[in-house]
Amino acid sequence: LLLLGLESSCDDTGAAVVRARPDTRPEILSSVVAGQTALHAPYGGVVPEIAARAHAEKLDLCVEEALAQAGVGLGALDAVAVTAGPGLIGGVLSGVMCAKGIAAGAGLPLIGVNHLAGHALTPRLTDGLEFPYLMLLVSGGHCQFLIVRDSDDFTRIGGTIDDAPGEAFDKAAKLLGLPQPGGPAVEAEAKSGDPTRFALPRPLLDRPGCDFSFSGLKTALLRARDALVAENGGLSRADRADLCASFQAAVVDVITGKSRRALALYLAEAPTQPAFAVAGGVAANSAIRAALETLSAETGARFVAPPLRLCTDNAAMIAWAGIERFRAGQRDGMDLRARPRWPLDQSQPALIGFGK
Ligand code: ATP
Ligand code: FE
Repeated sequence: LLLLGLESSCDDTGAAVVRARPDTRPEILSSVVAGQTALHAPYGGVVPEIAARAHAEKLDLCVEEALAQAGVGLGALDAVAVTAGPGLIGGVLSGVMCAKGIAAGAGLPLIGVNHLAGHALTPRLTDGLEFPYLMLLVSGGHCQFLIVRDSDDFTRIGGTIDDAPGEAFDKAAKLLGLPQPGGPAVEAEAKSGDPTRFALPRPLLDRPGCDFSFSGLKTALLRARDALVAENGGLSRADRADLCASFQAAVVDVITGKSRRALALYLAEAPTQPAFAVAGGVAANSAIRAALETLSAETGARFVAPPLRLCTDNAAMIAWAGIERFRAGQRDGMDLRARPRWPLDQSQPALIGFGK
C-alpha cells in the first residue's frame, strides 16, 4: 500500500509518502514540511488568511517534492489522504481541494483524516503499538488523554480546561523575557535553577479526574516575578533560572500526577500489551519525558515517545492514518467536507478537545 498524505490545518504545509506492507514496519518514503513561522512572526500569532494563502501556494510544491523524494509517480499510489479537520478552515480547505484534484486527476480513492487521529495513531507508525494504548497529546494547541482503541475509536478521558501546556511554557517565557518558542528556552534556564525556591501551585492535582488547568500556574509565576521586580528592581540570572525551574517542576508534577490517574483508568481495562505514548511538542521536554518514563516503568506499561519531527505537525502521520482507514475499507467521496471542529471522541461536544 502506497499513500500520499497532505497536511495544512495550521501553519505547516506538509506532504508525505508512506508505504505499508503486511508483516513489515511501515516506511516513510518522504515527509516534506514547509513551515510558515516567518510569515506570521510580525503578528505574534497565526493569521488564518495568511496561512490559507501560503498553504494554497505551497501544497503543489510540497506534493511534487514528496513524490520526487520518494521516487514514485502519482500512478504508483493507492490513495490520497488529507487532513479534513479540525483546524483553521481556510488551510483545511486548501488541502482538501488539492487532494480532491489529485484524486480526480489520477483516479485515486480519497481519504479524509482527522488531524488529531493523525497524532494519536503515530505510535503505531513509529513503534507498531497494538490497540488499546493510552495516549497523551501535549502541544502548543492540545492537551488530552485518549484511550486509542481502534483507528476510529478513541475515548477522551481528560484534557485541559484552559491553556495547553505548550501555551503555558510560551507565556511563561514571555513573562520572563525569554525567546519563543518558550518551551526549549524555559527548559534550558531550568537546568541551572532551583525548582524548590518558589512554591507554585499544582492546579487540579488534588481533584479527581484527568483534567488539566494551566492558567493559574501562569498567574502565580507572574506574581512571583512581580514580587522580585518590586523588591530588587529586576530579575537576576539566578532569579530567572529559579523561576523557570520552579515552573517546570510544577508542570512536571501536574502532568505526572494526571498521567498516573489516566494510566490507572486505562490499566483497569487489562490491556494485553499495555503502552503509554506521548506526542506533541511538549513531549520534547526531557524532565517531562523522564518523569513519564519512570511512571510507565512503575506501572508496567511500555513507554513510547515518537521522534519529534513526527510528534509535531507533519503529513506522514496523515498518510499513515489514511492507510489505517484504507485498510478498514473506509473511503471518502468528492463530497468530503473540511471541518473546523471535529472531536475525535464522538461522544464529546464539538467544543471540547481544543486547547486553543
Ligand atoms: P498543534 O500542532 O497541537 O496545533 P503547536 O503547533 O503549537 O500546536 P507543536 O509544534 O506540537 O504544537 O509544539 C509546540 C509547542 O511545544 C510550543 O508551545 C513549545 O513551547 C512547546 N515545546 C517545544 N519544546 C519544548 C520543551 N523542550 N519543553 C516544553 N515545551 C516545549
Ligand atoms: Fe497538530
